Amino acid sequence: MGYDVLIKNGALIDGTGTAARHGSVAITDGKIIEVGEIDGPANQVIDAEGTVVAPGFIDPHTHYDAQICWDGAVTPSSWHGVTSVVVGNCGVGIAPCKLESREIAMRDLVLSLIHLAFLAPLTPFRHYVMGTESLERAATPKETRDIQALLGEAMDVGAFGFSSTILNQHLGFQGRPLACRNASRNELKAYANVLKSRGKGAIEVALTRQIGVLEEEQCELLDFLLDHSGRPVTFIALFDRDDISEAVRDTLRRAAPMIKKGARPQTSPLPLTREINMRNPFSFAAFPSWKRLFEDTSEQAQIAIYKDRAFRDQFREELKNPLAFGNWERITLHEAQTNPLKHLEGLTVAEIAGAQGKDAVDTFLDIVVADNLSCEFTMASFNTRVDRMAELLNDPSILIGLGDGGAHVDMLCDCGYPTYLLGTWVRERGVLSIEQAVRRLTSDPADFFGISDRGRLQPGLAADIVIFDPDTIGSGNRGERRYDLPGGGKRMVMPSRGVQYTLVNGDVVYAGGQIVGSGSGQILRA
Ligand SMILES: [Zn+2]
Repeated sequence: MGYDVLIKNGALIDGTGTAARHGSVAITDGKIIEVGEIDGPANQVIDAEGTVVAPGFIDPHTHYDAQICWDGAVTPSSWHGVTSVVVGNCGVGIAPCKLESREIAMRDLVLSLIHLAFLAPLTPFRHYVMGTESLERAATPKETRDIQALLGEAMDVGAFGFSSTILNQHLGFQGRPLACRNASRNELKAYANVLKSRGKGAIEVALTRQIGVLEEEQCELLDFLLDHSGRPVTFIALFDRDDISEAVRDTLRRAAPMIKKGARPQTSPLPLTREINMRNPFSFAAFPSWKRLFEDTSEQAQIAIYKDRAFRDQFREELKNPLAFGNWERITLHEAQTNPLKHLEGLTVAEIAGAQGKDAVDTFLDIVVADNLSCEFTMASFNTRVDRMAELLNDPSILIGLGDGGAHVDMLCDCGYPTYLLGTWVRERGVLSIEQAVRRLTSDPADFFGISDRGRLQPGLAADIVIFDPDTIGSGNRGERRYDLPGGGKRMVMPSRGVQYTLVNGDVVYAGGQIVGSGSGQILRA
């Protein structure tokens, strides 16, 4: 009897970090049967000569909870060799609705291309028990016990742990804090104990109120969660920022005792690039001079302010104290509507200012006014320093992720980070080996979350496999615009290069740049 699938003659990178070796992978009934020098009949043979065969990538932080209800293909992550995504991140999610109908709701809604691993997000759990009061206060002891019991049920049916947030900007219904932000220490202890008593699961928490900066109180919370759960805790967001030059190193120093206990900060290999729309310039909202732009938001008023010499002078003054702004080399003219400006597309404000011999503030605002506010700029705010990123990406305590494929889809898209890591950081910049990069995308997150049957090329494990060309694998460093949300809404996506095949449970779901499968994914259970 033949194999279902035989992937022949690839460079096998098994996900453990050991050196690539030439060989083949045989698959039957959705599982890897043999790895090595194999021949024999198979229903489907994939010639992998000249390419890398690796375990499918596991994305730890995605926020696809809502998107999976209409996009079973889980794009754009599924274009990048990702075969499992963790959802229910940062304390937000759509379940539980009613516990008994949750499985049915999920099955009704989702026929997923790739696997879904659920964290139990605390916000809907608190809502479920406390109603709208969850938005206002801590739970009573009785409510805490009820939430704890629900969380226990979720863990017993396979949740991979729970998630929460303490970030000020995580607002929900009517601009009020997300319900999980009101969880008291007694509550958090009770919820962490659910994991401790079962000896499984992990916690994910959006922790750093200032990006990349771990404050004393946050250190203490991290330690509290580690002690009361006895389980690993991953926290976001560890982004390098050039306005607080040592923030990331300070955070790692401060977190060191907790890292020893199982804490894992998360970072992304990508610079964080967002779009700036000059009609809604919230990227500059931290500058006092820009307050006027949000008071009268008519085009006329905004143009008048952008032209105003006093406004420009005040902004120039404020820029001496940069406020997470970076500098003009980080701001690029992405798209202009008026023809005379088109030739400047793709250039940074610093480059244009240099060429025109003008001050950067004037250069920037002159373009905005000349284009009648229609131009779009992009701003790369974090993870832009190559030397510092090389340091972070080689730090084994850091969990690589933060793709956020299903979050803030109108502004930015980083979910191509697996192919970006392999293309930009491995091939072009040579800061880590391909074997280590693959390990960080596969067995590392699998082990962290306890996804025990995936993440390695090993007989007996599920046949989640990506086959890619090491000479072309990659993606751009920022998203591209598409209008493909339900109702034609805008989102940012990130196309991939060099991914030749992706297999999920032994089925080819992506080949030749196209999604070719449908429902091979399953709901993973811890
Ligand atoms: Zn998140």
